[in-house]
Amino acid sequence: MQDRPGFTTIFGRNLIGELPNIAHRPYLVVTMDDLWDLFSHHFDDNLAGPYIVTTIDGDELEDEVAKLPHCHSIIGLGGGQALDVAKFFAWKLQLPLFQVPTSMSVNAAFGHRTGLRFKGNVRYVCWAVPEAVYVDFDVIQNAPPVVNRSGICEILCYHTAHADWRYAQERGLVEEKWPYDQAMVDEAQAVMATVMDALDDIREVNEKGIRALMLANRWGGAAFHNLGWNPRPIEGADHFLFYALEYHTGKKFIHGQPVCLGIYIGSLLHDDRAEEMLAAIVRAGVDIRPQAMGITWDDVTYALLNMRGFVRQAGLWYGIYHDAEIDQAFANKARANVEAAYEGVTL
Ligand SMILES: [Zn+2]
Repeated sequence: MQDRPGFTTIFGRNLIGELPNIAHRPYLVVTMDDLWDLFSHHFDDNLAGPYIVTTIDGDELEDEVAKLPHCHSIIGLGGGQALDVAKFFAWKLQLPLFQVPTSMSVNAAFGHRTGLRFKGNVRYVCWAVPEAVYVDFDVIQNAPPVVNRSGICEILCYHTAHADWRYAQERGLVEEKWPYDQAMVDEAQAVMATVMDALDDIREVNEKGIRALMLANRWGGAAFHNLGWNPRPIEGADHFLFYALEYHTGKKFIHGQPVCLGIYIGSLLHDDRAEEMLAAIVRAGVDIRPQAMGITWDDVTYALLNMRGFVRQAGLWYGIYHDAEIDQAFANKARANVEAAYEGVTL
């Protein structure tokens, strides 16, 4: 993995408190409303202002750039949305960027591009390499456990990504630019193994668990670029179900819940270690039942029955959802298996 470097990543404590000493002044803090109340006391007179994220719509953010206060650096402070918008601003304004993930929910801190929505569909645009990513143990441990634990989705999704990649290769339908590459798969699998070995620590959100998941995310966040802008080693059916649920329900999700549901259902469709993946998700303490994410099984069923059309209309890369004739019986089976996996489990 040495020839595929990730962003400079620092683990420690009181890392936010040091930012006023190092960020180019004046600095803009890109964050969320509820987080600003928690962290504003760390910043001094050199603060150009907090920018509170209210949208990840690409067109709306273009307009926001023109309204930003004068600043010489950008600090991203938050989960995926704050870090993604911070990247976008740093890119538009060509300013140094410091990233502080306040939870382990997504790998946004570690990726070059930002996942903005254009007319409701996700597109990964921009280029931002932070000066450093600061992973503060106290800050992470203060985030809700469900948010932290669900970050395993960004790594366990390699399983379904690889199944989709093999599926496409076997049918001669893999993209010419992305032929199946066993070395890339092996590299990603080795990273996934470090997370599978740390599920109990990740569930506890202890230092060992934080290091394991964040170092894996460091590899995965940079992998899209490092592997030649090839998403196939790192993403597939797992995220596609999440995109569909977001599209159909218009709801905001904790990323990892629908993605972990997508990992299980994708594994079930591929008939590839589905039980093992579901057991890992439950063991890490992630609840993927729809009711835990504010939707219903009917929403999930609707998305599943329409996946074929959705992945084609959204222009997603070829995988099992492009072909699978998903019926009510399959949706019922997925539902029964998921519900059974949580019986008697305390989260
Ligand atoms: Zn993701």
